[in-house]
Amino acid sequence: MPSEQLFDLAGKRVWVAGHRGMVGSALVRRLAQEDCTVLTVGRSDLDLTERADVHRWMEANRPDAVFIAAAKVGGILANDSFPVQFLLDNLLISTAITTSAHETGVEKLLFLGSSCIYPKLAPQPIREDALLTGALEPTNEWYAIAKIAGIKQAQAYRRQYGCDFISAMPTNLYGPGDNFDLASSHVMPALMRKVHEAKRTSSPVVVWGTGTPRREFMYVDDCADACVFLMQHYSDAEHVNIGVGDDISIMELTQLVMEVIGYDGEIVTDQTKPDGTPRKLMDNTKLTNLGWKARTALREGIAQAYAAFLAGEGRGL
Ligand code: GDP
Repeated sequence: MPSEQLFDLAGKRVWVAGHRGMVGSALVRRLAQEDCTVLTVGRSDLDLTERADVHRWMEANRPDAVFIAAAKVGGILANDSFPVQFLLDNLLISTAITTSAHETGVEKLLFLGSSCIYPKLAPQPIREDALLTGALEPTNEWYAIAKIAGIKQAQAYRRQYGCDFISAMPTNLYGPGDNFDLASSHVMPALMRKVHEAKRTSSPVVVWGTGTPRREFMYVDDCADACVFLMQHYSDAEHVNIGVGDDISIMELTQLVMEVIGYDGEIVTDQTKPDGTPRKLMDNTKLTNLGWKARTALREGIAQAYAAFLAGEGRGL
């Protein structure tokens, strides 16, 4: 049974910041089922790192609720190569939107981060209270620090001004609209593209690192559904993990992607590339106890995401 509804989206003006991203576009799809008005603004019309501009736009457009799905995101190599953008852009975006949300009287705000906010060696599955209990994974600490600051901003506004600002930390997401540029993508879209190419040219599939790290994966439309659910049913300071409760090794994932795409060629590892954190499985008890559960099985999600890839729905293609 889902917990009691605390916030009604009906009749509300709901801003999805970052609506062109993979999560943002899934949120727009999901919100189409609610009786609300979805607001979006393009990158060329509003730079989300510019606080004064964000404030002006919010004053003019008066959102009642905001999802912060805008972020500078990328895979292990991009994070490691562009620390300034991963740290600063993310800090500026959350600062601009959170402060302006308070100033313009937004009723409810949901800030989105990711599972990399947790210590590199956090006990698995990772509970929400593992936050700030140990050192971060060095390959993505720039992004992580900015996302931790975003959680703290939401908490600070709740504590000092009573704002109903909440945070959610999804696990690794994949789906339509993903980034398929191999230099900056996450592992799932990278593998989809690599297996697709390897099948076309009958060559081996190159997996970065040792293939032994374990990761958890969620279909992005499930994540959007969880975000809408949290906006309606959750109001507290602590962030909430959004996960499926299960993980898989990178090597097993490679095999699964190959099965879905229909290729049984050779797999080789490129161990000049980093492994990153050994395991990143989130404890989703809190979300489960609130009454929400993911729907899309991994194989089914990969098949849907691959169909979207074939249809050209993605970046970096
Ligand atoms: P992370 O979850 O922050 O480590 O980010 P990624 O999704 O980029 O990487 C997850 C794991 O997949 C790491 O162990 C990578 O080394 C591994 N991996 C294997 N092949 C690839 C690939 O082609 N691209 C990326 N990004 N990661 C890969």
